Amino acid sequence: MKDYFSGSDIERFAYCPLNYLLYLKGVDAKSERGEIYHKGLIDKISHNILIQKRIKFLNTLFYFLTILSLLVLVVFFYYTIKGSIDYLFLLLLSILSIYIAVWFYLLSNFFNFSLFKKSDPIILYLSIFSLFALFMTFIILKLKGIVIPVLILTADLLLIADSMAYYRLLKNINIIDRVPPEERDIKYLDDNQSELLRSDKWKLQGRPDIIAEINDEIVPIEIKSSNMPKIKPFSHMMQLTAYAILVEEKYGRRVYYGILKYPQGNIEIEIDENMRETLRSLIKKMEIVRDTMDAHRNHNNKGKCQGCYRKNVCPESLA
Ligand code: SF4
Repeated sequence: MKDYFSGSDIERFAYCPLNYLLYLKGVDAKSERGEIYHKGLIDKISHNILIQKRIKFLNTLFYFLTILSLLVLVVFFYYTIKGSIDYLFLLLLSILSIYIAVWFYLLSNFFNFSLFKKSDPIILYLSIFSLFALFMTFIILKLKGIVIPVLILTADLLLIADSMAYYRLLKNINIIDRVPPEERDIKYLDDNQSELLRSDKWKLQGRPDIIAEINDEIVPIEIKSSNMPKIKPFSHMMQLTAYAILVEEKYGRRVYYGILKYPQGNIEIEIDENMRETLRSLIKKMEIVRDTMDAHRNHNNKGKCQGCYRKNVCPESLA
């Protein structure tokens, strides 16, 4: 006997008690199309998570290379402080290169990044690179000895690598900027290795498809492959409420709403006391069905039976 009800159990029962009973009796019903859609979306979100990790890495790399090239130039300055005006000019050029890179970086971080979306980042890369080329020309023509050319070459290579890191950073931020928050600000993703959430108090367990943090609120999200309905479906709402309970217990934070994510768009569902109370009474009815192994159709909606995955084996089907 099952001690805990899963989010899917809740959905089955809320759709039709007989649907849940048939499931308990082992009548399998899976939608291949739905599973493919579900997996495709989970894979896409996993890829977004990877891009975000890459952004963090490139961000750190950019800072690291900028500071390192600056240090090399400080050493260069030490060696050329007593040099000619040409050396000083080269120093100014290299500082200018760093300044341009840092300026673009800071602007893109602290102001609206969309300002930069229209300009091709490659322009930035080329402009910095052309400064390096100019810089190198001066070195070849003017400098003597080995220490200064090595320092300049090192600084140039570091700055080129820095610009490339910056270019990659912009490209990845551009990709992530276009992703909706519920596919981006992810705290949990049901990718078959995810933790099974459990509530002893409610006797519930399950793996929500997604848990996101949107505008400082924790939000359970359930992916649905069916067409977006005109009326909010009760079964999906109850399933989402069950996940909201599980999310609250896992994170110790109140869930105020959840999202049903259909191929055509999202429906936000408010998780209020009313929803919690309805779920509580649903669970009581489910316990009776589970214990008695008896349930019947509770509606006269032919369309509902037509959309039911177990209609072909259901003894009370209207379809
Ligand atoms: S076919 Fe109709 S009566 Fe049978 S389980 Fe499905 S919804 Fe319920």
